[in-house]
Amino acid sequence: MKAGLGSLRRMLWVMAVACALISGPHLAAQPPAGTCFAVTSSVAAPDRSDLQCAGAPTGYRGSVLWLRLPVPASQSRDASLAMHTTRFERMSVMFEYADTLGPRHTIGRGDFADSWHIGGQVAFRARGDQPATAVWLRIAGLEDYNLLSLRIVSAQAAQRQFELTAFAIGAALALLGIAALFNMGLAASMRRSFFLWHGGWAATVMVWGLVWSQAGLAVFPAAAGTASARLATVLACLAIMFATFATASALRDALPRWPLRLLGALGVLVLAAGVASGLPGVDIGQFAPVLMIGTLSSLALATACIAAGWRKGHGAARDLAISWAIPMVTLAMTQIVDLDAILWGGGDKVLMLYASALQVVCLTGFATVRLRALRMQRDRAVEIGKALAELAERDPLTGLLNRRGFLGKYAEAFGGGASRPVGLLLIDVDKFKAVNDEFGHQAGDEVLVTLGRRLASFEERFGCRVGRLGGEEFVLGVSGVADGGLVELAETVRSELAECDFGATAPGHRISVSIGVAQGAADRPFQALYRKADEALYAAKREGRNRVVCADRDIESDQAPVLQQVS
Ligand code: GH3
Ligand code: MG
Ligand code: MG
Repeated sequence: MKAGLGSLRRMLWVMAVACALISGPHLAAQPPAGTCFAVTSSVAAPDRSDLQCAGAPTGYRGSVLWLRLPVPASQSRDASLAMHTTRFERMSVMFEYADTLGPRHTIGRGDFADSWHIGGQVAFRARGDQPATAVWLRIAGLEDYNLLSLRIVSAQAAQRQFELTAFAIGAALALLGIAALFNMGLAASMRRSFFLWHGGWAATVMVWGLVWSQAGLAVFPAAAGTASARLATVLACLAIMFATFATASALRDALPRWPLRLLGALGVLVLAAGVASGLPGVDIGQFAPVLMIGTLSSLALATACIAAGWRKGHGAARDLAISWAIPMVTLAMTQIVDLDAILWGGGDKVLMLYASALQVVCLTGFATVRLRALRMQRDRAVEIGKALAELAERDPLTGLLNRRGFLGKYAEAFGGGASRPVGLLLIDVDKFKAVNDEFGHQAGDEVLVTLGRRLASFEERFGCRVGRLGGEEFVLGVSGVADGGLVELAETVRSELAECDFGATAPGHRISVSIGVAQGAADRPFQALYRKADEALYAAKREGRNRVVCADRDIESDQAPVLQQVS
């Protein structure tokens, strides 16, 4: 209970720190220095004297925001405007040349013409024949001025940036696609919910990357603008939910249920806020704090849970947690540090794509190692199982097949519906009790071992199967040998066993065996053949022992077998 309260305190502490970060400096992509603005729905550009050059515009949402950005002299002959927000209804861009405005380039929701670039950028280029002094933007239905990320750069630099970003994003998306498939495959083969959530995370991040980067516009150009931006927000929230689910299921065996349930609930809350903020006509700004609090508290709780699981020494949880920590830490970092300066407007997003891909690569490594260990354990278990099954079929004293083993091998070797002739020899040691009585049980055992060894040597010589049915009774099964050949074999067995040397174990004692022989077809039941051989053996005993008696061949007859004495 005390430990529970301690970990609760720690979790709350981490959550408090994370929430405190929210109230830290608000990171907004500010327009370049010297940007002036006016909020007016006029179609013509406002008078420069009507522009305001300090502070931030307000009331632009239901109206039109006009912006004028000065073009630095160094770029006046080769200027491009790159912009990294697509949350607006309609936008016109005009370059200003020596106080005259150039032609209007207009793009709108669902139609970015050829102004879009992979990386979430829209870009416009000035004419190069005369120096551009400024660029004017008329943005209708802009969602958030603070999310505007505008840059005036040389056309060449812009081109390089777009190519680099497209390459970086393409590679990350490919990695994520493979990662998603890999996880889904693992989820199907290992039946672990972790891999399902994790695959969901990878797939969602990949789709998010396609939508956010505008690569999807190549296929669905009509999704340009707000629709894509809103979908990207919802997908990001869905990815966060999958992340919380995956973390919770990875730590299922390591932690109590309540923090993991809370983590999952936070994930659902983030998704709900994301969906609500993505509904048409909703002001994303209103949901921003909920989204931020939801995201950071799930991050904080996930971190606390991972740390707790790790401290408990949960191996699998630790492996999964390490790989998970990469996108988690990256996500937290993108909330604190502005990385957008690196890849214009998309540094943090591209970094997230790579962090997610790297995480799955890490997990692939960990999962492969764990799968290998599992497979080795399984192989070992299979080997042990085989050895145990083998042992269960062997007689421990002589090492020959026991009754069960012999029956199994008999069915395997002689059964199967073929009508080949099969011969069965039941071999019983004569007056064996006397050996025990005279020389002791130990000597009796040694006699049995010697006989067993000799019998085993027949297997290769005669292509037969031998076993110990119990006590001092052995069995020999052979196929393809019939009539005289079978009797001859039985005689050989009898005389060779009698020749065994027992001088050391039972000095002066002659060991002999009686053999009952039965012959039948392989497709007949073993029991019928056994009964006949047993009766023949009984007859051999009755008639004086140390002999072979062969039962009548007709095993289908219900009559008592006609016995044929051989020696
Ligand atoms: P018969 O010629 O009629 O077969 O006479 P027998 O003495 O061989 O037959 P009986 O069935 O009367 O006795 C079998 C003896 O075999 C009795 C038992 O103590 C002995 N025996 C059975 N299993 C073992 C074993 O594993 N080791 C030893 N040492 N003796 C065994
Ligand atoms: Mg006996
Ligand atoms: Mg016996």
